[in-house]
Amino acid sequence: MPKLTIKDIPLKDQRVLVRVDYNVPLDEKDGKFVITDETRIKETLPTLDYLLEQGAKTILCAHMGRPKGKREPSTSLRPVAERLAEILKRPVAFVDDCIGEKVEATVAAMKAGDIVLLENLRYYNEEEKNNPEFAAKLARVADVYVNDAFGAAHRAHASTEGVAHIVPTKAIGFLMEKELQFLGEELKAPAKPFVVVLGGAKVSDKIGVIDALLDKADTILIGGAMAYTFGLALGKKIGKSLSEPDKVDVAKEALEKAKAKGVRIVLPVDTLITEHLDFKAKTISEPKTTAPGEDIPDGWEGVDIGPETIELYKKEVAAAKTILWNGPMGVFEVKASATGTFAIAEAVAANTGAVSIIGGGDSVKAIKRAGYADKVSFISTGGGASLEFLEGKVLPGVAAIPEK
Ligand code: AMP
Repeated sequence: MPKLTIKDIPLKDQRVLVRVDYNVPLDEKDGKFVITDETRIKETLPTLDYLLEQGAKTILCAHMGRPKGKREPSTSLRPVAERLAEILKRPVAFVDDCIGEKVEATVAAMKAGDIVLLENLRYYNEEEKNNPEFAAKLARVADVYVNDAFGAAHRAHASTEGVAHIVPTKAIGFLMEKELQFLGEELKAPAKPFVVVLGGAKVSDKIGVIDALLDKADTILIGGAMAYTFGLALGKKIGKSLSEPDKVDVAKEALEKAKAKGVRIVLPVDTLITEHLDFKAKTISEPKTTAPGEDIPDGWEGVDIGPETIELYKKEVAAAKTILWNGPMGVFEVKASATGTFAIAEAVAANTGAVSIIGGGDSVKAIKRAGYADKVSFISTGGGASLEFLEGKVLPGVAAIPEK
């Protein structure tokens, strides 16, 4: 059953505490902190516009970084309040605390249509501990609680879970609704063929997703370093490529399960290899490609899928009706080993007849860098939350909101 959304609850003149995910990257420039990617702020605008329209008093709360209870300028949400005011073209008051008298006095003076952003919730250790007294302090200024922070919904923290049990009226926002729609509903009975592209560093991070998708996917294309652990499972030599030797059994089991269920797990047929990857300098020494089916020689490491694999994966993606992509095909931060990842980005964007879902993390960076962000059906704002949700896990922040 779908969750209650802000469309289902009274908002006029209500004090609405909205948990948002404003954990945006900041860069220090001339002693000031500047936001380098404001996607997470922009994604909340539909919710904020609706609350304004409805005459709510909007109190935004969020976390930034991992301050572990310490107040530091590098993790203050003040720059976010300033930027949000510019985007909304209206004042956004900032309170340098998230609980206590200052917050209560500010909220008491709010009128319908006002917006306030509270300071970083994680300046209190109680937030991550889901401390009930802290949650009760947050709840003191709320008639209504709204969770629009999908990226934090896999954590049972005071602002994502605890507070929802205290405030009587609660709902999800439009961003959360969209995330649940695409990562949940759209993938419940996906149009076929359903092609999943999985990459990134570790099999252990993605095995839960592979397991969950074996019941739905037709084809799973594997890239990135996780392909080498699968390679080991098939008895291949992988040189000094990044791998998880202790996860070879897990990879073997996944291959067997896939076979039994009639799902094709496709592994790279060729690999871009180098003797030396310098991640800091963003260079690789004299790269070459293995011949199709050839092992990776000793002393060499795989850094990207090879050209034959790119062609193979492009064909699979082009024939799909539903595509889910999570994780880069290689060390995409280095230009010389980013070809595979950008080729997948292009192929996903080119298949306009398919529902294409970018499941968070580094593939989001890749699709944006390639300039295809507006050509796919949906880009998730959650990293860990997207993976956990795709694994079929219950997200505490979602579970705490009632169904319709
Ligand atoms: P993840 O967070 O698991 O999606 O992994 C993303 C990271 O995997 C990126 O930083 C990539 O550089 C890294 N990665 C992908 N392929 C490789 C590879 N062949 N060797 C080393 N690192 C890789």
